[in-house]
Amino acid sequence: DVPVQPDMKDVKVHPQPANSKSRPGKPATKFMEARRRLPAFAKRHELVQAVHNHQVTVVSGATGCGKTTQLPQFLLEDAHDTGQACNIIVTQPRRISAISVAQRVADEREEALGNSVGYSIRAEAKRSHATRLLFCTTGVLLRRLIHDATLAGVTHVVVDEIHERGMSEDFLLIVLRDMLSQRPDLRLVLMSATLNAEAFSAYFGGCPVVHIPGFTHPVDTLFLEDVLQRTGLKVHAQQQQQRGAHRRRNDNTHKAEIEPAEYTLSPQQVQQYGQDVSKSVTAWASNTDKLDLDLIADLVTWICRNEGPGAVLVFVTGWDEIQKLNEVLGQRSSHLGPVKLLPLHSSMPTVNQRDIFTSPPAGTRKVVLATSIAETSITIDDVVFVIDCGKVKMQAYDALNKLAVLAPVWVSKASATQRAGRAGRVQPGTCFRLYPRRLHDEAFEDHAAPELLRVPLEGLCLQVKGLQLGAVQTFLAKAMNPPNTLAVSNAVDLLRNIGALDEHEQLTGLGQHISQLPADPCIAKLVLMGAVFGCLESVLVMAAAMSHRDPFVLPLDKKEAADAARLAFAQDCCSDHITILRAFQRWAEAEGQGQGWAFCRHNFLSRQTLVTVDSIRQQLGELVVSAGFLGPGARAQGQNGWSRGDEDLLRAVLCAGMFPSVASIRQAKRASFKTVEDGKVEAHPTSVLARQTFFPHRWLVYSDKMKTASIYLRAATMVSDCMLLLFGGPLAQGIAPGKLTTLSGQLTFTAAPAVAQLILELRARLDAVFVA
Ligand code: ADP
Ligand code: MG
Repeated sequence: DVPVQPDMKDVKVHPQPANSKSRPGKPATKFMEARRRLPAFAKRHELVQAVHNHQVTVVSGATGCGKTTQLPQFLLEDAHDTGQACNIIVTQPRRISAISVAQRVADEREEALGNSVGYSIRAEAKRSHATRLLFCTTGVLLRRLIHDATLAGVTHVVVDEIHERGMSEDFLLIVLRDMLSQRPDLRLVLMSATLNAEAFSAYFGGCPVVHIPGFTHPVDTLFLEDVLQRTGLKVHAQQQQQRGAHRRRNDNTHKAEIEPAEYTLSPQQVQQYGQDVSKSVTAWASNTDKLDLDLIADLVTWICRNEGPGAVLVFVTGWDEIQKLNEVLGQRSSHLGPVKLLPLHSSMPTVNQRDIFTSPPAGTRKVVLATSIAETSITIDDVVFVIDCGKVKMQAYDALNKLAVLAPVWVSKASATQRAGRAGRVQPGTCFRLYPRRLHDEAFEDHAAPELLRVPLEGLCLQVKGLQLGAVQTFLAKAMNPPNTLAVSNAVDLLRNIGALDEHEQLTGLGQHISQLPADPCIAKLVLMGAVFGCLESVLVMAAAMSHRDPFVLPLDKKEAADAARLAFAQDCCSDHITILRAFQRWAEAEGQGQGWAFCRHNFLSRQTLVTVDSIRQQLGELVVSAGFLGPGARAQGQNGWSRGDEDLLRAVLCAGMFPSVASIRQAKRASFKTVEDGKVEAHPTSVLARQTFFPHRWLVYSDKMKTASIYLRAATMVSDCMLLLFGGPLAQGIAPGKLTTLSGQLTFTAAPAVAQLILELRARLDAVFVA
C-alpha cells in the first residue's frame, strides 16, 4: 500500500520563499529554544559527521534526549545546507509513535503534517511529493521492500527503538545489512535507548557508536516494602498462600470453587517476603496473572492527597487494566481532587497530543495510565511520580508443544530502570515499585529476550518468502540472535500444511495472498476463504473473536445461568465459533435498537469485549479490501452480508482456517478427543461441546488449545470428512485406490475411487482460485 517513491537522487531541497509555511532548511524559532535544550542538540555536528562518514552509525542515548525528533531533522537540515538530495525514512515499532513523532517534528518545523514531514502506517498515510522525512512503521517499510528491494531513491534509513529487539526490527536489520553492499550510498542509522549499543555495532562490523549523554534528576526508588511502610497502604491481591490454587485459577472453569477470599498482608509480612527470597520469591514470581489494581488506585489516591504537584505515570499491563483503573479512579474523583485521567495504549488510534504532552492547568493533576509504550517510545515530560506494577504482557512460544501464549510476566531490570527514570525528567521524582526488592534483584532478567526467540514464526517465514530472501533457515540464521531451528521448522511445516508453501518451500498462490495481509497466516487464510465463499462478514466476526477473546463472561455466583445463556445460542451447531457469531449478531441487532447493555446483561456477555471484537472485525475487513480482494463498495453494499452465512458453509471455511488443528472423537460421552499429534484432549468445560453427547461428525477443528490440569480445547467446531477433504490442507492420493491423505499422511480417508477423483478435481479448482 506504499506508493514507490520517485527516484530522488536528483531532487534537491530548495529554500522556500520567505512567505511560505514550509521551510525545509530553517527550523522555526518558536520551538528552537526547546530543541536547543535537548542533549541531542549539543551532539548535532558529531552526529551529522558520523552519518556522513560511515555507512552505518549507532546512536544511543537516554530516552527523551532527542534522538527520534532531532536526529532526522539534523540530517534534513544538513542536506539543505549542503545542497544535497535527501529522502529519509525513519521506522517506528508502533503506529501510534509514528504519527505522534511525525506530528511533533512537523510542529517544530512550523509546517502542516504531510509537507516535508509525513508519516505512513498501515492503511493510512499523510505525505506528499514534497515529503523528505517520512516516519513509518517497520511493517510499512518491510512491505515496501517487496516491490522495491533496494529502496531506490532513499538516502537514509533510520531504524528507531532497536533496543526493544522487536521481531520486525531484528528482521529488518538482517535485510538492511545484506543490502549495504548493493547500496553503497545508503546511510543507515540505528537508534537505541539503552547502553547495549555495542552489540549492534558488532553486528554491523564494528560501526561507530555516538552516545548522547542525558541528564535526569535523581529518582527516589521505593520497593513494595518501602511503599507500604511510607504510605500505610495494604496489599489486596491474593499472594502465595494460594499458590496451589493459582495454577488452576488460569482456568476459568474452576473459578467458582477456588477463587480465594481477598485478604490483606501486613507491611511486616511483605517486608519479610521481600527479605526472605528462598521462601517467597518463587511464589511472588509465579504470581503474574493479576494486578493489584486496588493497591494502585489507593496509591494514586495517596499521592494526590499527600504529595506535591507533578504528573503521575502508572504502568500496567494492558488495555483492560487501563480501563478498569480508569473506572475505579473516576469513581473516586472526589477523593483525588482535580485530576485529568489519561489512558495511553498502543491500540488507541492517536494520542491526544495536547492532553498527553502538555501540563494541565495549575492545581489539576495529570494521571497517565499506560502500558510499556510509555517506557521509551513516548516521553511525557512533566511526570514526577511513577507507579510500576512490574509486569508487562509478553508473548512466549513453546516450540515443543507448539503453544503460544500472551501472558503478563515480570519486566526486565532494564525496563524497571527505564520506567523509574521517567519520574526524573523535570525535577527529582519518586518511583513506586509494587514488588519486593529481592524479587527484582534475584528473579528479574537483565534484559528481555529478543521477540524473535519468543514467538511463533509463521508470519515472519512468510515474509522471508514474500521478499524472496531464500531458504528460511539460512536467512534467519543471520539474525543478531538466531531463533531456534525447531521453531523455524515448525513454522515452515505449518505453512506447508495450510497450503501457503509448497514442498520446495516456495510460496503458493494462496501463500502469496496470505502474505499480503498483515495478520496471523491462519486468520488471513480464514478471512480469504470467507471472501471467496461469500460469507466474509460472518467470518470476520469469528476471526476477530479468535484474535481477541470469548465475549461470554463467567460470573462466579451465577455459573449455571451463564452456562445456560451460552447454550441457548449454541443450539444444533456443535461449534463454539458459530455460537459466538450468533451471539454477536443478536447483540449487533440489540445495539441498533439501543438495547445493547440490557442484551449483554441478560445473556452474560461482555459488551466491552463485543465492542472490541466489532472494531477488530472492521479493521480486518478493511485489510481485505486494501489488499484488493474486494472492491471498496463490496462490503458496504452488503453483498457479503451475514444473511448469506449458511452455517455449514461457515463450518467448511472454519475448517480451512484452522487446519491442521484437527482432533477426532475418542469418547463421545466424555467429550474426549484425540489430536492429530495423538495427544488426548478434552473439550473445555466452557465449550459448548463439553455438554454434547451426540456428535454428528467424527472431526473437529479448534482455534484455542490450552494446558492446565489437562489439555483443553476451548474453541472448537465439528466438521465432516468432506469438509476436511475439501478444505483441510494439501491433499495427496495414497497408495490404495480411493485413499486420500493429508497432513503428510497423518489423516487418511477412503472413498470410492470415482469420488476420490472428484474430490481431487474440486481441490484443483479451489487451488486455482488463488493463482498469484
Ligand atoms: P528520544 O527519541 O531520545 O527518546 P524524543 O526525540 O522522542 O527523544 O523526545 C525529545 C523531547 O521532545 C522530549 O522531551 C519529549 O517530551 C518531547 N516531545 C516528543 N514528542 C512530543 C510531542 N508530541 N509533544 C510535545 N513534546 C514532545
Ligand atoms: Mg525515541
